[in-house]
Amino acid sequence: MIPLTELQKELRYDLTNACVQCGYCLPVCPTYMTMERETQSPRGRINLVKMVAEGRIENISQIMEPLELCVGCRACETACPTGVQYGKIHEAAKNALAKHKKYSPTVKMIRNVLFKKVFPKQKVMVSLGNLIWLYQKSGLQKVLQKTQILDRFPNHLGEFERTLPPLPSIKERKMVGKHILPEQKPKLKVAFFQGCVMEGIYQRINRYTIELLKLAGVEVIIPKKQTCCGALHAHSGEHNQAIELAKQNIDVFSQLDVDYIVNNAGGCGAALVEYDHLLENDPDYKEKAKVFVSKVRDISQILVEAGNLPLQYPINETVTYQRSCHMTNVQKVKDEPLQLIQSIPGLKLVEMERPNMCCGSGGIYNLIHYEESMKILSLKMDTVIDTHATTIITTNPGCLIQMQKGILNEGLKGKVRAVHLVELLAESAGIE
Ligand code: SF4
Ligand code: SF4
Repeated sequence: MIPLTELQKELRYDLTNACVQCGYCLPVCPTYMTMERETQSPRGRINLVKMVAEGRIENISQIMEPLELCVGCRACETACPTGVQYGKIHEAAKNALAKHKKYSPTVKMIRNVLFKKVFPKQKVMVSLGNLIWLYQKSGLQKVLQKTQILDRFPNHLGEFERTLPPLPSIKERKMVGKHILPEQKPKLKVAFFQGCVMEGIYQRINRYTIELLKLAGVEVIIPKKQTCCGALHAHSGEHNQAIELAKQNIDVFSQLDVDYIVNNAGGCGAALVEYDHLLENDPDYKEKAKVFVSKVRDISQILVEAGNLPLQYPINETVTYQRSCHMTNVQKVKDEPLQLIQSIPGLKLVEMERPNMCCGSGGIYNLIHYEESMKILSLKMDTVIDTHATTIITTNPGCLIQMQKGILNEGLKGKVRAVHLVELLAESAGIE
């Protein structure tokens, strides 16, 4: 066998050979659906990577656009009969591309601040959340929304600002302790992974998560030194930084004697369950990562396992469930959210057509590739509207923002709401 070149190793050429070009992945790929080009399909992207690895395309930056326009939903993996590990191929190619990419000094500075100083620092994320609360509470938000000043900012800032939920006050944030015991003898003991965006912007969902766990008889520990899962870093070519964050989380959570490590964000959970892949070449962390991964669970799995959640208040609405791609395709958590939705009294669940299709959120894909993201969202919203649901349930902050955006785009504000599953369960359990 001819030994692989360094470039071929870097691009995971070994994995690309599993693709037999059958094309079964094409109908499930959202970018192929919206752009209708082979180069914007999983098969096309794999071929392009192969061509670079074999020297048939000289410069890797020639394939930058199709690789960057992949939303990273991993639906192609679920459709592939030969088990092509597209996620690994895509991530390896993006890391290789990152080395060749020339950022302007401003973009470099923004990336540096976001990836190193904001997402990994929970205190910064919480302070950001407090500032947004102040901005909302002071009335400034109303003024800026009325004058539409934010619409003049780049990256559609004004549009995304309108998707912000009402944030909790500083006092409400402090209501959550670090060690929560249920009334009765605990059935399970878990450590809670808070997530940077969840704790900064969606802290109320985190609080509901903890209160639901407590109601279900679960003891919860919230380790202080936990950090961002690293998903955004890994998907943006910041491989080394993603590794550092993974190691910090493994160090922090491994010290705890718990049954599970629970999270409530599809994207974060997907990053956490792949720490063993991320660290497969690290002799010091390889085994520790496997143990960590074996304990990671989504909140829906824990609530189903604990059982007996007292859902006493009916919610008389038609709902539909927008699956998080990363929860479905990477974590493979499919049944538990549905089981929980169906256990809420009064609800009528109507499934949308193509429920597994991505909504176009893709981490920060909707900010960077706005037009492409909105085309995917438009397809998704057509299927949502057909259900006549008044509530869209999601399990990931990115999907939640995207669904709010879809509601605004379709003029459905006030008629349809988007919520995290945990919010709906809390409503039915009477948690305020
Ligand atoms: S990850 Fe999603 S967008 Fe990317 S190639 Fe696969 S199906 Fe298409
Ligand atoms: S389904 Fe799998 S083997 Fe077939 S073209 Fe897509 S990636 Fe290749």
